[in-house]
Order: sequence, then structure tokens, then C-alpha cells
Amino acid sequence: MTKKRYERPIIIKHISGLMNKFGSNPTASYKSDIDGVAVEKLVEKFGSPLFVISEKQLRQNQREAYRIFKTRYPKVQFAWSYKTNYLNAVCSVFHQENSWAEVVSEFEYEKARRLGIKGEHIIFNGPDKSREALLRAMKEKAKIHIDHFDELYTIIELTEAEKLKAKVAIRVNMDVGIYPMWDRFGFNFENGEAWQAIKRIIAAKNLELVGLHTHIGTYMMSAEAYRVAAINLGTLAKKIKNDFDKVIEYIDLGGGFASHNTLLGQYLPAEQVVPSIEQFADSISSGLFELSFTNEEMPTLILETGRALVDDAGFLISSVIANKRLSDGRRAVIIDAGVNLLFTSFWYKHKISPAQPNGSYTENTTIYGPLCMNIDCIQDSIALPALKVGEKIVIHYVGAYDMTQWMQFIAMRPNVVMVMENGSVELIRKAENIDYLMERERVPEKLLLKKK
Ligand SMILES: *Cc1c(COP(=O)(O)O)cnc(C)c1O
Repeated sequence: MTKKRYERPIIIKHISGLMNKFGSNPTASYKSDIDGVAVEKLVEKFGSPLFVISEKQLRQNQREAYRIFKTRYPKVQFAWSYKTNYLNAVCSVFHQENSWAEVVSEFEYEKARRLGIKGEHIIFNGPDKSREALLRAMKEKAKIHIDHFDELYTIIELTEAEKLKAKVAIRVNMDVGIYPMWDRFGFNFENGEAWQAIKRIIAAKNLELVGLHTHIGTYMMSAEAYRVAAINLGTLAKKIKNDFDKVIEYIDLGGGFASHNTLLGQYLPAEQVVPSIEQFADSISSGLFELSFTNEEMPTLILETGRALVDDAGFLISSVIANKRLSDGRRAVIIDAGVNLLFTSFWYKHKISPAQPNGSYTENTTIYGPLCMNIDCIQDSIALPALKVGEKIVIHYVGAYDMTQWMQFIAMRPNVVMVMENGSVELIRKAENIDYLMERERVPEKLLLKKK
């Protein structure tokens, strides 16, 4: 009989479906399909890692949010926040559901135009708009949301030089009880700066002030903050009507509603602590109704909701590369998706499920990505059952910001597919390859190496 291989003994605490005060251990469940399409099949056809987006979930989220707001306030318009996820297929779903485009750069503006969105249905936000971009936006009648006085002066100068009219709004920042305050964008409400900007716009003969905008922050966990914002912008609209006899067309309360991702350091799962869309809508509508607008004066409510509409429609499938024991005995798993693809792992504890039944014995596990960099940790500690090399996991709620903030670092970006409502699967962004990268590079003549 040959001698058995020595293994360092480790004491492991097993948790088998025990109840704690929040219910049973959630990781015993697994997710083997996305909208009925097997994870195994998706990987077979499109490789691993793989981003998967559910068309059904996108549409459901948008319709539900619209219904909730529309039943509480009669005039509602959504504008899709491009930076949250600007894959063409994703934007197109939102546009088919009647959303306008909300863009924060020239590149995003161009993307919306190429998708066929008319200028008048583009909201142009952000602190950096070049003269060329402003000129184009004016000619195409986009809604320009002014961020600072220098931008206002440039717009006044351009409209006079080019004999053009511009439809503008101002972005307003304010104290809604959330700190640190986002006061770097727009004009301040409390110190009178916003009112100063309004007076100058009203006085400029080529500018028409059509709206008032704010975006108070992102992943907001307070519905009350939106009520304060609605009242403040509503108050400005009333004062504009009163002092200048000018009716404001819309009040735009931005985005920022929290999605169901749980923040690092947050004890309870997000589902239990973040307000629902109903709560945000109740706060906003009650704020607006406090102003008692007449029917003619009643402004359209614009919402630029991003993450809350897209996060749970995105999944990242990844495969186990290796199992490991760290020096202190902790279990670690290396997967083939790194932080270059999952930027949001720097602030979220993502929900992660095995894609196959791996049993109900779980152990606290650290999940590392494949990058040769110490920062490449997907999750510090998560209860997972034993996983074999090659088995798959599904990372949930990755629809927001991951597919825009991802980067080509050590590894390239993989395929993105959309599971369509009818159950078919479409490739919506092809994996990058070395040719794609090299195409951008140039080597100066004297640095060309001789082939040996
Ligand atoms: C980023 C952004 C949004 C969307 O924010 P979410 O947190 O994704 O909802 C909306 N409006 C503006 C101006 C933004 O910058």
C-alpha cells in the first residue's frame, strides 16, 4: 500500500442550511439558467467569461417604473442615462420603451444620434461640452443643461454669433440632507447662485429656459431627499412664473435610485434596506403636488434613472480556474473574470450563485480574478459550496456601470449577449481580440525590430 499524500489539517465550519435571524443561508440555491437559457449552453456557444443581458428584465423594469410614476404624477418622461450602460442594444430597448437619451459627453451624444434619437429628445448634461458640441446641440434643438457660468457665457456668445436659439435648463445642486453634498455640478440653490443663473438666461434674448435639473447623487437610499429636491426645483419654477411670467416645461430630478446590489460594509442585503421605486415616486409626487401648480403650469417630470433599471438585467458568467488554500487556511477560488470587467466589485458585495447544484455545505470563500495583480479580488468573503475547476458561477446585478467602466487590462473584454424575449440569444458586443487592440498602435520606424 502506498503512503497517502500529506495534507495540512484545517478546521472548517460547515453551515448546512441552518437558519439564522435573517432566514436560511441563501447560497444553497444555484442559478443554472438565465431566462430559461442554460448557463452551460451560453458558455459553450459564447465562451467564458460572458456578460448576459435579459431583454425581458429591461423592459419589465422600465414599464414598471413608468407605471409607478405615471399613476402618481400625470406628466412623466424617462431619459435613459447612457453612461450607466451605453451598449446600443441596451439603449435601443429603452428607446423602444419611449425613453429619451440622457448624455454627458460628445461621444454619448453621437451614439444617441446614430441610434436615431432626435436632438429634441436628447438631454445634454455634464461639465464638459466643447463649443462644437454646444453648436451642434443648439442646431439640433437638444436640451442643453448648463453646468457653470462659463458654459452659460459661451452659449450666449455662440447664439449671438451664429444667430441661433437655444433651449436650455440649469443643473441645480442643493442640500437635501445627504452628505457629502454633490455641489461640484451645477449652480447652488441655497446661496442664490441658481437664481442668478436663471435671471441671466431670462435676460438673454436667444436663450429659452425650458427646464430645471438636479441629480442629487447615486445609489441614494433616502426617498425623502427627492421630495426636498422636487420642492426646491418646484419653488424655483413658481418664482420664475411669478417674476417673469415664464412657464417652465419640465423639472428633471435626475437618477440615482439605489439598485438591489449590496454595498461593501452594508450589513443587511440591499433588498431589505433600499427604498422601492414606489417610495421614490411617492416622495417626488408629494413634493411636486405641494407646489399646487395649475394644470397649465404643471411641469413634466423627467427622470434619468440608470442603475435601478438596468442592474438586475445584467449577469456575468464566469468559470472556476483553480481552488486554493491561503496561508491561514482560508479557502480561495480563482475565476476567469477579474476586476477589469467588474469595476463595481470595488463597492458592492455582489450576489454570486453557483451555476450547478454543488450541495448545501458552504464555506467562507475569497474569490479572486485571473489578473496577476493583488487588487484583483472579486469578493473578500462569501459563503459558497465546493466548486470544481471548470464549473460555472453567475454574478448577479452587473447591468449598471460594469459594461461602461470595464477596461482592457491584462485580459480583454469578452462577448456580451442578450437573451431575447422569445428565448433566442443574440451577440450584442463581440469579444475583443489582439487585432482590435493593435489596430490603434503605431511603432516609430527606428523602433521596428528585425525579425530573427
Ligand atoms: C449618472 C447620471 C444619471 C444616472 O444615475 P444612476 O445612479 O445610474 O441612476 C442620471 N443623471 C445624471 C446627470 C448622471 O450624471
